Amino acid sequence: MGSVGYKYLGRKASAFRSDHCRHDEAVVVAKRVRSWIWITVLWIPVLPVGFRNRWLCDDCGEPTAATPRTRLGVKIAIAVFLAVAFLGSFAREPERRPMRKDVALEQDDTPLWFLRSVTGAMAIAAAVWSLRHRPIPTRAKLLEGFEPVAFESCPLCGGQIEGTGHMRYCAACSSEECFLPLA
Ligand SMILES: [Zn+2]
Ligand SMILES: [Zn+2]
Repeated sequence: MGSVGYKYLGRKASAFRSDHCRHDEAVVVAKRVRSWIWITVLWIPVLPVGFRNRWLCDDCGEPTAATPRTRLGVKIAIAVFLAVAFLGSFAREPERRPMRKDVALEQDDTPLWFLRSVTGAMAIAAAVWSLRHRPIPTRAKLLEGFEPVAFESCPLCGGQIEGTGHMRYCAACSSEECFLPLA
């Protein structure tokens, strides 16, 4: 498990914008961060394969557009899997002819009943979780009533912001100010 994967390393910020964060469900400052993508083996970075720009929330550090919530399809799949596991636990093994009648009666069903109650309870919990699912709003929907916050100073270095309209940048670190929604 997790022997080969990838990791983002390095966080070079080059732009900022007023954004809506899915995790915080609030208007936040986001920074456009350029990170190297490294292939990892046993969590150790071994090979850089490229870089990627991401908009990360300055508050929670997560990508602002990524949804933290589980999709309905995934919830239903989990509920169905647990229900099948629950029902499967009632499937009878082929009758084994006991050598002696008194030995057959000693079979302990406790682990089986434990398995049944756990999978049954989890299946019900997953079903309730699916039924109580609130639709995940699209990014466009979230940005409909979006009110960007005007920056007076650079959130990256505190420098003064110059320029007008959609051509604004920090005079000190030359980071650019970006605006939502992006085309
Ligand atoms: Zn956030
Ligand atoms: Zn700056």
